[in-house]
Amino acid sequence: MEENVVTRNFIQNIIEEDLRSGRCDHIVTRFPPEPNGYLHIGHAKSILLNYGLAQEYNGQFNVRFDDTNPTKERVEFVNSIKEDIAWLGADCGEHLYFASNYFEKMYETAVKLIKKGKAYVCDLTPEQIREYRGTLTEPGKESPYRNRSVEENLALFEAMKNGEVEDGARVLRAKIDMASPNINMRDPILYRVSRMTHHNTGDDWCIYPMYDFAHPIEDAIEGITHSICTLEFEDHRPLYDWVLVEGEWKKTPEDTPKQIEFAKLYLTNVVTGKRYIKKLVEDGTVDGWDDPRLVTIAALKRRGFTPESIQKFVELCGVSKADSSVDYAMLAYCIREDLKMKRPRMMAVLDPIKLVIDNYPEGQVEELTAENNLENPELGSRTIPFGRELYIEREDFMEEPVKKYFRLFPGNEVRLMHAYFVTCTGCEKDENGNVTVVHCTYDPETKAGSGFEGRKVKGTIHWVPAAEAKDVTVRLYENLIDEEKGVYNEDGSMNINPDSLTVCNAKVEPALMDAKAYDSYQFVRQGFFVADAKDSAPGNPVFNRIVSLKSSFKLPTT
Ligand code: ATP
Ligand code: MG
Repeated sequence: MEENVVTRNFIQNIIEEDLRSGRCDHIVTRFPPEPNGYLHIGHAKSILLNYGLAQEYNGQFNVRFDDTNPTKERVEFVNSIKEDIAWLGADCGEHLYFASNYFEKMYETAVKLIKKGKAYVCDLTPEQIREYRGTLTEPGKESPYRNRSVEENLALFEAMKNGEVEDGARVLRAKIDMASPNINMRDPILYRVSRMTHHNTGDDWCIYPMYDFAHPIEDAIEGITHSICTLEFEDHRPLYDWVLVEGEWKKTPEDTPKQIEFAKLYLTNVVTGKRYIKKLVEDGTVDGWDDPRLVTIAALKRRGFTPESIQKFVELCGVSKADSSVDYAMLAYCIREDLKMKRPRMMAVLDPIKLVIDNYPEGQVEELTAENNLENPELGSRTIPFGRELYIEREDFMEEPVKKYFRLFPGNEVRLMHAYFVTCTGCEKDENGNVTVVHCTYDPETKAGSGFEGRKVKGTIHWVPAAEAKDVTVRLYENLIDEEKGVYNEDGSMNINPDSLTVCNAKVEPALMDAKAYDSYQFVRQGFFVADAKDSAPGNPVFNRIVSLKSSFKLPTT
């Protein structure tokens, strides 16, 4: 019998129990980005998790912009987030919402809480509020404004709403318990005054709800059943339930919407965290939010990652309650696996040096046939012009070979990929002793595809024809941060790898000049590359290395 063991994650268990017990009869999940930056790989995990659960249980997936803080939010971010979610393949259909469209309902809930004696307007300064809050070991102190009458609170809250109160002068607070062991329950702030123009509601409002108050109401309005968030909100869950129960959006804390927390995704050797990415962008360390060295979704796309590779990655990461860091090599593994059968294998020489075949007839050009992908015949073949002068990688020749060097050195024979065996006869040098040209002779009997079996050689090298090769810019990337050297310097700044970008003037097969934005290829022996979407011009692509071919990651076997 075929065994089909599917590991369930703890969220699936919760959902199944809720469906079984009748706590809900269908599920609605959501992804709630705040439009204050671009999405990154961690958000991709959250998006695909929420979307995947909705798919699996035949439910609904909402995207809701959590745009309740106009100080940091911009339309540019709204647009990039929409684009990224669509690119990942998470389709919310018509269920695209903005929290700012619920401001009226949130306001009504606040008024309801005031009327129930569960919220009050407080005049303490932000510093005093912090001071009165107490610590993990000491209880907080009650605000002198805590016992204002309902009428006074209603009037003051109305004044806040009408713009009669200075920014920061007064806030609306929940009246819960200043002695609670959970600091989040010590009369948290629900509303603040901020006379900012909002990207969606303009100047309609000058009071804005705090996340902990707004989020549960947003979930309730949309009928979210399972509100999945990251671990740092675990201690906020009692407040989430308090707002919904006291605000009369649900009857008991066990009802839906319910908050469920999972561990954030962290990756080694890269910067996750919107705040940190924003800093790298703003101080010019990287070239914008989509710089291919970042792990924003826009950057991953530009770097040549595919939605499929990210879906696979997220699947391999799993869902857990324990914080941990995933090796970047796993992400690299996923894109390599995705592309290796799908994309053609071409020849590109990143650090070219000329190779002259002295016994090859001058002026002769042969069109050699090359399979596009030996493991996937469906990709067909192409022809490559071959002549007397070629370019090879500088590192494929050594005048004095080191041990176990099987490439070109005087007297040694190698195979030129898709072409002939050649034997090195020597080299030319400039006045500084640098090698400028390598010489060889070829054996016409050894043509690839001719069935020649006379002898074997240990090295195969790639090449491009000197006359027909095209010059292109190729960019090689390394991690922005080397964790082994420490993420932070002593002064607290980030330890940025100065060699994270290398630009090469490469020579490539003419066929590569047709590459369009996001077209990707394997360059034999060098890795996978993609035509850059921003810097390529028609007929003149710039290539980014997505990943090299070597993998330090092995899929765990179970
Ligand atoms: P950051 O932590 O990078 O500053 P954020 O949490 O402030 O991001 P939001 O726009 O508020 O960004 O996040 C939207 C959703 O994405 C939230 O539900 C959040 O929990 C989730 N999320 C954010 N970062 C990660 C991560 N690293 N792994 C998984 N989910 C994440
Ligand atoms: Mg956030």
